[in-house]
Amino acid sequence: MGRYYAPGAWRGSHLAMPRDLSVSVRPLVIVCGAPASGKSTWASENADDVIDLDVINQQLSGYPFRETPIAFLAAALQQRNAALQLCATEGPSTAFIVGAPESGERQAWADMLSPQRVVVLNPGQRTCRARLLADKTRATIRRRQITALDRWYQLYTPAPCDEVIGDGDSGNPHRRLYNSTRWRKMRAAHLKTEPICRYCKARGFVNDGTRTATGAQQTIGRRRSLIADHIEQHHGDPEKFWNGELQTLCADHHDIAKQGEEHRGYSTQIGDDGWPVDSRHPAGAKG
Ligand SMILES: [Zn+2]
Repeated sequence: MGRYYAPGAWRGSHLAMPRDLSVSVRPLVIVCGAPASGKSTWASENADDVIDLDVINQQLSGYPFRETPIAFLAAALQQRNAALQLCATEGPSTAFIVGAPESGERQAWADMLSPQRVVVLNPGQRTCRARLLADKTRATIRRRQITALDRWYQLYTPAPCDEVIGDGDSGNPHRRLYNSTRWRKMRAAHLKTEPICRYCKARGFVNDGTRTATGAQQTIGRRRSLIADHIEQHHGDPEKFWNGELQTLCADHHDIAKQGEEHRGYSTQIGDDGWPVDSRHPAGAKG
């Protein structure tokens, strides 16, 4: 610790949290969230100009992204604050990226800069963690980022000024689709017309959910089931979800099929409680 940018050490310092910046006359949005919550992407999609300490650090030091030694931090913060002060003059729409897990800090920024919006990106700690683990560009700083992630969620408190995007670990848009009565009826109707695993059938035996992919008795209770599977991934798109073609699969073949489709972007691992471990799983991880 200490070699790189360590926000914790700077919390409360005048440079990290200045009190004398002017109200923004530019359309300003403050974008907050944990590491890997998607702040950079959201900011670039929603504003013409982005003020991001990570970017300033990189430009200033010439070190790889997010690997700037802490020696550069004071200069980077000064530069960031100057960019924020510039928002007091006419200019493009601007997004200001800051972790700011605590309600008091976000409120202080909002009181000082008077932004149009304070957005908190909260896809959930588990989702952020999975993104960090999958992000090759963060390999060298992974441990530090996971510490920062855990810390963010430890400190996180909502504020009245927040506009929260995402519903944390409690779910994903898919879960609502799968929990609907309409889907239960659709699933039941499909399983009536196709009551055996399509892949097992292709391998020459009948599996009504009581067998494994090799034809042996399925001894794990929670895996003794049939899945009405969307042949084409739907990503929560209602059109694809409701009108896409379905196929019946046993639990094993569902896993096998999905493992071969990494582009789906989630793990199919089932936890001891019978729910998918990964919150991005369309069935929704247990919240
Ligand atoms: Zn099967």
